[in-house]
Amino acid sequence: MEFSKINEVLATTREGQLLHDFMSMLYPICRSITGEGVRETLRQLQQHVPLEIREVASGTKVFDWTVPLEWNIQDAYIATTRGERVVDFRKNNLHVVNYSVPVRGTFKRADLDGHLHSLPERPDWIPYRTSYYKENWGFCLTHRQLSELNEPEYEVCIDSSLQPGHLSYGEVFLPGATEEEVLISCHVCHPSLCNDNLSGIAVATYLAKVMQKIVRRFSYRFVFIPGTIGSITWLAQNQERTNLIRHGVVLTGVGDSGNVTYKRSRQGNAYVDRAITHILNHRVRAHRVVDFSPYGYDERQYCSPGFNLPVGCFMRTSHGEYPEYHTSADNLEFVAAEALQESLEILLHAIHVIENDARFLNTNPCCEPQLGRRGLYRAIAGQKEGAQKEMALLWVLNLSDGQHTLLDIAERANTPFEVIHAAACALKECNLLEESRGGRP
Ligand code: ZN
Repeated sequence: MEFSKINEVLATTREGQLLHDFMSMLYPICRSITGEGVRETLRQLQQHVPLEIREVASGTKVFDWTVPLEWNIQDAYIATTRGERVVDFRKNNLHVVNYSVPVRGTFKRADLDGHLHSLPERPDWIPYRTSYYKENWGFCLTHRQLSELNEPEYEVCIDSSLQPGHLSYGEVFLPGATEEEVLISCHVCHPSLCNDNLSGIAVATYLAKVMQKIVRRFSYRFVFIPGTIGSITWLAQNQERTNLIRHGVVLTGVGDSGNVTYKRSRQGNAYVDRAITHILNHRVRAHRVVDFSPYGYDERQYCSPGFNLPVGCFMRTSHGEYPEYHTSADNLEFVAAEALQESLEILLHAIHVIENDARFLNTNPCCEPQLGRRGLYRAIAGQKEGAQKEMALLWVLNLSDGQHTLLDIAERANTPFEVIHAAACALKECNLLEESRGGRP
């Protein structure tokens, strides 16, 4: 399929519900930064896209970090001495502090205190806690459950293992006409959390699915990695080829019903920053574009000074700005099919810009060419409809001097890229425009 058909693809995609269903399937898996949960998740993705699973051994040095031991878990609970489970990992995998070392024994209630985490202000929610880089163990429970732990002793079991193994990540590579790449990255390390983690995985997977069907100018690389250590590992292993990355975006939190937020790359005005901002300005009424800061998700690594890649972060409500963040309330009800669909559409529109932008030369630059003679003007002067199209023709003719890209023109004319692009196509058809050599931005 030609990329110019992307608008038709967009008009007919109703993927939101499929994305939500896909998340429902991934939801119960207990993921972490390493272990079977990530592998199982990646295997599910392989049902949809040609994903390769890569394994990096524990102990591998990756810049200033070391790939950690592999963590796996079978079961965990707190039970009364009569054997009744009062906190049960099998009911919700958030109940165990992620990366907990194995524990088994009878504990005095008072000795459990430092190992129990709850949210007094949200007594029905389970918090999400991790202890990746410090050996520890613990349980997360609702404040209501905590307040009912009144017996003198409890049986505690965390049937986990922390052993030399691998860090797993997934990669989908879709070659294009050029080896220059667009990088799409999302984290895969959170257990049963929907907006933070699963929404990014789902949208990235379906984006790859759509991109597979399209004739591509750029090559596309989708990476599904554990947060922080995964992007550091990926960058360490791919340092040589990062100079091929022309545009990139980290996807996270793209399923809540809040407004879209786009966080610019460290460069601040990279092409991807401009393309996404342009789409948001013309398609999405309420949105926010914020500057880079060295906090957040894996853009922190892609935009570290040694790389300084043109990679922004696309999300809806920012992490930490919604109370459900990192709690059991970030569940399947919290994410909406419509929000997932809209996120997917915005990204496809941005890709449409990236794929179709070019610099052109006006072949008739001395005074305006006669458009009416070529069937490009409205038949009856004064007709309202078509005015924007006509203005787009004039802008494209005026600024096509080999210097300005179509996105430059769209920004200056304050007109949607697709209208400017359609005008350029019409003018090219009439030989009033030719692509300038080396004209692709
Ligand atoms: Zn998170």
